[in-house]
Amino acid sequence: MGAIKLLILTALCYTTYAVHFELPTSRTTIFGDEMLEGEIFEDLINRNTITGFNINPSEYRLPRTTRPVEYDLLLHVHMERLAFNGTVTIYLHATQPNVSEIIIHTDELWIESVILKKDNVSIPQSFVEEEELDFLRVQLTNGTLEYSDEDIMYELIVNFGAELRHDMTGLYRSWFRNENYTEPVSYVATTHFQATAARRAFPCYDEPGFKAKFNIVIRRPSSYRSWTCTKQSSTREPSIPIANYEEDVFAVTPVMSTYLLAFTIAEYNSTEVYDDDGRLLYEVIARPAAIRDNQQQYALDFGQKLLRRMSDHVGIDFYDIDKNLKMTQASISDFAAGAMENWGLLIYREAYLMYNANHTNSNYKQLIAYIMSHEIAHMWFGNLVTCDWWNDLWLNEGFARYYQYFLTDWEDHELGFDQRFINEQVHATLLADSVESAHPLTASGIGSPTQARSMFTTITYGKGATIIRMTEHLLGFDVHTQGLKYYLDSRQFNTVLPIHLSEALQRAAVEAGAIVEYGPDFSVIEYYKTWSTQGGHPVLNVQVNHQTGQMIVVQRRFNINVGYGTASTNWIIPITFATADDPDFNNTKPTHIITDSITVIDRGSIGDQWVIFNKQQTGYYRVNYDNYTWDLIAIALKTNRTIIHEYNRAQIVNDVFQFARSGLMEYKRALNILSFLENETEYTPWVTAMTAFTWLRNRFASTPYLADLERLIIDWSRNIMADLTYDPQDGESFMRSYLRSQLAPIMCAMNVTECQEAAIGEFNLLRNNETYEVPVDSRNWVYCNALRKGSEDDFEYLWQRYKSHHVYNEKILLLSVLGCTPHRNSLYTYMDAIVTENYLIRRQDYTTAFNSAVSGNEVNTQIAFQYIKDNLTLVDNAFVVRSTLATPLSYVSARLRSEEEINEFEQWARDNRVALGVHYNEIMSGATSARNSLNWVLAAQDDVLDYLINKGDDITTTTAASTTTSTVSTVTADIVVAPPTPELPDSAVTTALSLVLLTLSFCVNVMF
Ligand SMILES: [Zn+2]
Repeated sequence: MGAIKLLILTALCYTTYAVHFELPTSRTTIFGDEMLEGEIFEDLINRNTITGFNINPSEYRLPRTTRPVEYDLLLHVHMERLAFNGTVTIYLHATQPNVSEIIIHTDELWIESVILKKDNVSIPQSFVEEEELDFLRVQLTNGTLEYSDEDIMYELIVNFGAELRHDMTGLYRSWFRNENYTEPVSYVATTHFQATAARRAFPCYDEPGFKAKFNIVIRRPSSYRSWTCTKQSSTREPSIPIANYEEDVFAVTPVMSTYLLAFTIAEYNSTEVYDDDGRLLYEVIARPAAIRDNQQQYALDFGQKLLRRMSDHVGIDFYDIDKNLKMTQASISDFAAGAMENWGLLIYREAYLMYNANHTNSNYKQLIAYIMSHEIAHMWFGNLVTCDWWNDLWLNEGFARYYQYFLTDWEDHELGFDQRFINEQVHATLLADSVESAHPLTASGIGSPTQARSMFTTITYGKGATIIRMTEHLLGFDVHTQGLKYYLDSRQFNTVLPIHLSEALQRAAVEAGAIVEYGPDFSVIEYYKTWSTQGGHPVLNVQVNHQTGQMIVVQRRFNINVGYGTASTNWIIPITFATADDPDFNNTKPTHIITDSITVIDRGSIGDQWVIFNKQQTGYYRVNYDNYTWDLIAIALKTNRTIIHEYNRAQIVNDVFQFARSGLMEYKRALNILSFLENETEYTPWVTAMTAFTWLRNRFASTPYLADLERLIIDWSRNIMADLTYDPQDGESFMRSYLRSQLAPIMCAMNVTECQEAAIGEFNLLRNNETYEVPVDSRNWVYCNALRKGSEDDFEYLWQRYKSHHVYNEKILLLSVLGCTPHRNSLYTYMDAIVTENYLIRRQDYTTAFNSAVSGNEVNTQIAFQYIKDNLTLVDNAFVVRSTLATPLSYVSARLRSEEEINEFEQWARDNRVALGVHYNEIMSGATSARNSLNWVLAAQDDVLDYLINKGDDITTTTAASTTTSTVSTVTADIVVAPPTPELPDSAVTTALSLVLLTLSFCVNVMF
């Protein structure tokens, strides 16, 4: 093997890689629409509002010179004036001698008094707040804290207060109207602490590593109820006389991090489940009308099943973790994330928990199911063992995202989560992780709250989950599970680093003999390091010699803009492959491990036959082949598609589209390979294809060739749409209905007559029959297309439906389609309602609603732009709390279709530079992105058109001479060597991307 390697390396000096055209050296293929609608590159959006550049990240960290052990916290929530105050007593000790200062966190709290005591005797001190670092420094007037092995305990008592916040962090206000918009508003006080907002509710050691126990007392109005992580032990009269108030006393919590605490004070009802001894086990809480309508039943039933299944899986029963914990699932109207895994008080947006069979579509049903799975998995992964610092957040979120899919799949296979992991996690993550600035799973330079927030990315969640899945297949499910049990057992009630995980897995693997076949040098620890400490991922270039069966495999870092990354990065890659001779896609145990940049693998057969690497896409890498082998694969896809696993068909669709986009493959070749789609009927390849086609349609929207491209998409989808039809059938599978709900909107948008007629037919039935309801999975495209073709009166009809509807799933769906109206008056009514504080549309939904207004129709973009110009102050005020003025303008700039529109946009921004303030650069970069898109199309359109015009080319006329597997081919395959390193751009775009970890991460993605 060494000799062959030498030959290849020698050849490297003389030969070029078998790509038939020059790779570009400087360009971007990332444009505004994908950042916004695909929500993929959320961590690349430079918000230009970063603070703390001049402060070293480590300065934000608390010193470890003192440690809290337990807290007593009394919170008095004044619902009548939407404020709170409280007293916290922190029992702490010094961890070393000569400590003269205690530093804890506080942020935007009014600190009334600070007392330090030991053995009930006050110790003189002074305190100072350090705003930039969120520190409360308590300095001893004389001497130092006593220190001994016996942990001498001090009490730090702080009295504090604040208003209930507006921004959905810390302890904040929410509201609901029980039935509909004619009822009075009832306020709710509730919390969201992750990552660094516990310090906004009470002074505390607000880092995950400072775990402690908490004794909570909540003083609230008598008409309200209150909840926290643990069971309520009693309700009592307030310790000071105060009319119409009571105090709820809660059992002490397990040892836990502050960000996992939660409080909810609301005029809510609940449905509970008790054990035989009458102790509370599980409950769902929500506004009374939702409970009355039984909208909580699905969360009640399915959540308990998930909790049981997960308890069995990890071998630690949730109810045995701590006798004081119970499981409360809370529906909250205003919530910044999708949901939050507070230990024992899980909080969800209402649309992600409440279910009504008549109004909750498949999309929301599966969201409820898998968000519950995600949060329930956190009870162990995140809560019982917690990432030691936010730079290793993937140890929490990777597992939660993994179980989000697979725990749900074990409990309800019909929801198709094993299939959808491929589209929604593997493909989406590969994309997010394909830029030079992609952060490694274990990041560096994380200190400030802004930097901590910047870790909540697609990479942290999706790459974490994808690497965990790859490892599961590397070790086998049972061995992997045993390793996780070791991990949880050894670190429970503690924090974790990646080494704790990989050591536990290594132990289980060695005990079971699960890695013997990978050779004596293989170690799970070294394998994990290559995936967790390096950004990006490899593309394997596979060159097959069909005469000998030898395959030369070259690994390079993939780059979506220019093909390959700059650095010579190697990963330890588990390899699986199937061949025409041995088309077994089910055994996903790797047969080879690649560690070097160039490796030779024997296929085990000779003669012309396809080989496909990465069975079921269990490995986290892309695969490119020599042209000859691609032709063999293309022929197999055309003639005998189903012999290749559904996930691998999706893999091929995703890989070739991204190779073409990045310049590694001509579009003509990519589309030739993809032409099997005209016979494809499965979910995973089609959803993968439609995602890529949507990206291409957005590019071609500015050209006269859009119609040609859409004709191809319509042609290829003719069979699948004929199979699905536009009419839901009684008793059809969840996935069939779900696939239709994703494809039909695209068909209608491409003006497919059957789709539009079906939409208008359904809408007429709805309008003309008071009791009729459109099938729940058809409403997204029926409502939207009825509005597109309809009148202002049709808009008014759906607007009223929004205002009066009592199921939040239906309301949010309506918000996402109301912008489909092309009527200027209706759009202005809609945008007025969004930007005015009128208790009609929630702040958390402003972006959904406004994006709908901008993008509901091609003509809307300029109408919405005019609206922003006319109402700049209103729009600014509306978006300032949750995002910035740049957000609505980014929706506009992502849809600028010509140089003229771009120039006009830029001129307006220049004219209003003062008003746009710190957002000016970001707004202008949206216009640059639109121009980059036009330039990309100019460069690529001939290649795409070549296929659109000459698509009749037979695949066999390219390079493949024969499909027989028994005879040795006489065709000489291309010589493959390591692909050349392109010169990387030194453009403004790259500079902006490299700021990723310092950028304020506005969570476009709804994370949970
Ligand atoms: Zn999570």
